[in-house]
Amino acid sequence: MADFDFDVLVIGSGPGGYVAAIRAAQLGLKTACAESRETLGGTCLNVGCIPSKALLHASELFEEAAHGTLAKWGVKTSGVEVDLDTMHGEKSKAVNELTGGIEFLFKKNKVEWLKGLGTFEGPNTVKVGDRMVTAKNIVIATGSSVTPLPGVEVDNESAKIVDSTGALALPAVPKRMVVIGGGVIGLELGSVWRRLGAAVTVVEFLDQILPGMDGEVRKEANKIFKKQGFDFRLSTKVTGAKVNGAVTLTVEPAAGGAAETIETDVVLVSIGRRPNTDGLGLEKIGLKVNNRGQIETDHDFRTSVPGVWAIGDVIPGPMLAHKAEDEGLAVAENIAGQTGIVNHDVIPSVVYTYPEIAGVGLTEEDAKKDGEVKVGKFPMLANSRAKTNREPDGFVKVIADAKSDRVLGVWMISTVAGTMIAQAAQAMEFGATSEDIAYTCHAHPTHSEALKEAAMAVTGKPIHI
Ligand SMILES: Cc1cc2nc3c(=O)[nH]c(=O)nc-3n(C[C@H](O)[C@H](O)[C@H](O)COP(=O)(O)OP(=O)(O)OC[C@H]3O[C@@H](n4cnc5c(N)ncnc54)[C@H](O)[C@@H]3O)c2cc1C
Repeated sequence: MADFDFDVLVIGSGPGGYVAAIRAAQLGLKTACAESRETLGGTCLNVGCIPSKALLHASELFEEAAHGTLAKWGVKTSGVEVDLDTMHGEKSKAVNELTGGIEFLFKKNKVEWLKGLGTFEGPNTVKVGDRMVTAKNIVIATGSSVTPLPGVEVDNESAKIVDSTGALALPAVPKRMVVIGGGVIGLELGSVWRRLGAAVTVVEFLDQILPGMDGEVRKEANKIFKKQGFDFRLSTKVTGAKVNGAVTLTVEPAAGGAAETIETDVVLVSIGRRPNTDGLGLEKIGLKVNNRGQIETDHDFRTSVPGVWAIGDVIPGPMLAHKAEDEGLAVAENIAGQTGIVNHDVIPSVVYTYPEIAGVGLTEEDAKKDGEVKVGKFPMLANSRAKTNREPDGFVKVIADAKSDRVLGVWMISTVAGTMIAQAAQAMEFGATSEDIAYTCHAHPTHSEALKEAAMAVTGKPIHI
């Protein structure tokens, strides 16, 4: 058998890649991880999940202080101001701590960090920077980057037309902001700048925000965001942009019709993300991408080329950090000869706005396509903790199979939905029925009791409504 420098070489150190590398090393495999960025952690830690959550947290604190939430509770504040430099500073500190943490974990687990862009030279050979490296197994975990919008050119430097990376680092709070795309990233970053003082308009091509989520949740979320001051232009497409001091966007109805213009100070382009395969040299190993630019794999994350595996945003499925992480664990275990499995039917998704929005499993619309369902709903207004905290918006919805009662999907809007959804995911992973959730003792008073009551409502027996 040929001698290789490594048992496993992972290309990309995002949540998919770094987890795969650490698990492979834990399993006794000689492992390296190539990363073209200066720091480890990928999109998620550097310009994604972590910095966006830092700004969401900071802006929420500001809004609570500046717009009367604290005062309502007798916490008096005066002269509340935004100090954006300090906010950005705290965000960067969190990013540095977490990316440094991955570096520490690499050292601890003896994963070798290869600095530079990885390019295939052959099935078992990758050039990283100037170094030629061979590995028995290569895991492609190169992630994704922002999808460009023709006619609306991003220039993060000038901070006029920005992508999510630029929107995480705006040097001043804009008076007006237009977010193109009413998906998760647009609504989260739109929320940050709205809370800090911008008048935010969201332009969405589809007739509703949050594509892919449960219909009722999408409608309710839209109502809540409107109440917060977001302006929505649904069923509208952006066809061009001119920067001349301010930015002038040209928009028209998605179905066609008269064009009009919107003037604004900052435009955030957030219409989606596309897989990173450019410069990877896939042609050298005869690995083709599908028509969405993704690398296809089998259930074990093997590509069509022996010894080459792929995980995370670069393969089909939701572009989420925890999906990438779980695939990272599974691929390493499969490489080591164990059985690594990811249940793609139970991947929770969360929008970290106020309130939070979360779901796992099938939407009601999709569940109904497969057969008869029973649905139980419970409003947060009737949940004692949410009511006490003055957090009345939202509901929990449990969708179960009409015959077997097995839970097919859970959707919710609640201030802590991102935390509550874990219970639903675990229940579904264990094949729970709605009755199983309804008869599980939940601590009182917690927002999670709303999930229990929604499960009780599946068979028409909630107590508190
Ligand atoms: C603003 C924003 C907010 C987000 N918030 C959330 C959230 O709250 N929760 C959530 O679950 N997801 C969130 N996401 C999505 C999440 O960041 C991604 O799903 C996740 O990072 C994907 O992980 P990955 O390992 O597949 O790839 P990435 O994290 O994209 O990492 C890939 C890495 O590979 C490197 N790379 C690429 N090509 C090469 C090469 N040829 N050689 C060497 N290195 C290479 C890249 O530099 C990158 O560092 C967010 C994304 C954005 C943009």
